[in-house]
Amino acid sequence: MLAEVARADVADVDRAVAAAVAALPAWRALAPAERARLLHALADALAAHQEELAVLEARNAGKAIGDARGEMGMVIDTFRFYAGAPERLLGDTIPVAGGQAFTVREPVGVVGLITPWNFPLTIAAWKLAPALAAGNTVVLKPAELTPLTALRFAEIALAAGLPAGVVNVVVGPGRTCGQRLVEHPDVAKIAFTGSTEVGRSIAAAAAATIKRVTLELGGKSANIIFADADLEAAAAAAPLAVFGNAGQDCCARSRILVQEAALERFLELLEPHVTALRVGDPLAESTQMGPLISAAQRDAVASFLDDGASPAFRGSAPEGPGFWFPPTVLAPVDPGARVAREEVFGPIAAVIPFADEAEAITLANDSIYGLSGSIWTRDGARALRVARAVETGVLSINANTSVRVTTPFGGFKQSGYGRELGPHALDAYTEVKTIFYATEG
Ligand code: NAD
Repeated sequence: MLAEVARADVADVDRAVAAAVAALPAWRALAPAERARLLHALADALAAHQEELAVLEARNAGKAIGDARGEMGMVIDTFRFYAGAPERLLGDTIPVAGGQAFTVREPVGVVGLITPWNFPLTIAAWKLAPALAAGNTVVLKPAELTPLTALRFAEIALAAGLPAGVVNVVVGPGRTCGQRLVEHPDVAKIAFTGSTEVGRSIAAAAAATIKRVTLELGGKSANIIFADADLEAAAAAAPLAVFGNAGQDCCARSRILVQEAALERFLELLEPHVTALRVGDPLAESTQMGPLISAAQRDAVASFLDDGASPAFRGSAPEGPGFWFPPTVLAPVDPGARVAREEVFGPIAAVIPFADEAEAITLANDSIYGLSGSIWTRDGARALRVARAVETGVLSINANTSVRVTTPFGGFKQSGYGRELGPHALDAYTEVKTIFYATEG
């Protein structure tokens, strides 16, 4: 057993919210430079604990240690980036008759943060850093399966000088503790990352108190590969774009759309990259992919193969204890198949052929989701045409990246609303207030 954690109940959530309410006036009133200093101190403290946090995350989530180190690097960078924000929360001056009108940004108040188990501290940091920078206090409810780095984060924040009550963590079930945060009258906003199903219920429940809500939900992203692309590069990059984090990634490019003229060659190039993936002990330095998070998740992933789909080729996975599932490529897949329509959240890729640019766009958009995606082509004009036509929040051309600290991230359609990261995240943690000062008689 890794750890035993006390399970919070609704009364604990209420105590955490009360602590956040009590801490709010002093935190929002801090001089901007002082709030910035504390966030830099927190980033320094996280950097000092980076390896400890990476190992804790790798053990709790079963993710490859190299990935966990990279994720902790992003956590630190996120706090550094938003440490610049308190002194840059600019407003507007607007010409009006009879005086001066201007806007200021106020914190929304106490923010409830509800996060998933796939990138536990990283996704929490995307919410914590802009929320705190803007002068809010927070109650973080991490996923039941992966609470350990959130709990350690709270200790590190306190030791770094953040006042008690500014960051509160409650570990408990979503349907009790999460639900209480969503319903609590003293919580002004919920920032949620998780499944589309739970996001839908949160949006409905939040309506009762007109809470602000931002939702980062599921995805079924398309990796579109045209015949004129650098096929070697596209094939080398495709596996980790869907099998990274064992496919438990909302941005997983789990639909690989390949132009018919290049299909055979692309599959030939892809296979050795899939079979070469190093799947194994998350704490081994060479590991690229670990196990799935739970037996339930493994069963859910395996059910996509029960539908009769037969793999074109698969990578390897260890025998023995652990929720292992080998990287699996299905080809060719009918766009109507369940594996082409539903989020797998595991290491299965569906290769779907297309004839031309118009069909590629139609297929890419034939989804309730719209989170991420990629376009591989040597034709620059086509790349831009397709990028504008695909209905997703984040796209890469000749690359498979989705997330950077400095650029906005979020979904179209049922992948959610609101943006995290970059300068845009601050909009979701502030209210715009308009002030008019009369200058006549
Ligand atoms: P989940 O929706 O089951 O749970 C997410 C969080 O919500 C957990 O903390 C859970 O306890 C809580 N929760 C559950 N029911 C609740 C309720 N009724 N009220 C309030 N809170 C509740 O998601 P998961 O299984 O932890 O994560 C997987 C999902 O997250 C996938 O669909 C994935 O695509 C999505 N995800 C999206 C992003 C993104 O940025 N768009 C990132 C990572 C994961």
